[in-house]
Amino acid sequence: MMNLNSPLFDKVRSKPVADEPRAEEGPRCEHPGCARKGEFRAPKGRVHEGEFFRFCLDHVREYNQSYNYFAGMSEGAVQNYQKDALTGHRPTWTVGVNGGPGPESKLDAATLLRARLERLRKARAAAGEPRRRVGKLALKALEALGLDENADRATIRRRFKDLAKRLHPDLNEGDRSREDKLRAIIDAYNYLKSEGLA
Ligand SMILES: [Zn+2]
Repeated sequence: MMNLNSPLFDKVRSKPVADEPRAEEGPRCEHPGCARKGEFRAPKGRVHEGEFFRFCLDHVREYNQSYNYFAGMSEGAVQNYQKDALTGHRPTWTVGVNGGPGPESKLDAATLLRARLERLRKARAAAGEPRRRVGKLALKALEALGLDENADRATIRRRFKDLAKRLHPDLNEGDRSREDKLRAIIDAYNYLKSEGLA
């Protein structure tokens, strides 16, 4: 049986949305999966003059790092990279040789962002920078929450609160499968906390 008097539930009950950013407080971070406030602007790039992404502090830093990886690259190298990043998609742009429309003009902002972040990840791996070390159990726990090893503390907490709210017994009268799922999520979250990951 599930202990509905667990302090964990009190937390979920008493602080449902109070510390979540609200839509009217301004733009959200545009990093995929991040719900923090987009308090920082980052230029979208060469052919998007005057356009900006909105990011939280962590993600504007990450973005700026990935942006710098492109800064020193030739146009051809950027295009080759983007072809790789868009596996399965035939590139539709024409090659811009002398300042003509480059690949970026044909890519929507989200694709461009994904490409940059993916490049950063590959560059780090190629540089032999150690990947975040996450044990097998922690990885399983993250997967139970629908996350991967890159999820940061804030993302893990947010996801847990979100799932716990949705699966809460108050909202799902006696639905056994949801109760089991909730138990699994609580176990996963507690494990991540015990490992200092959440
Ligand atoms: Zn963010």
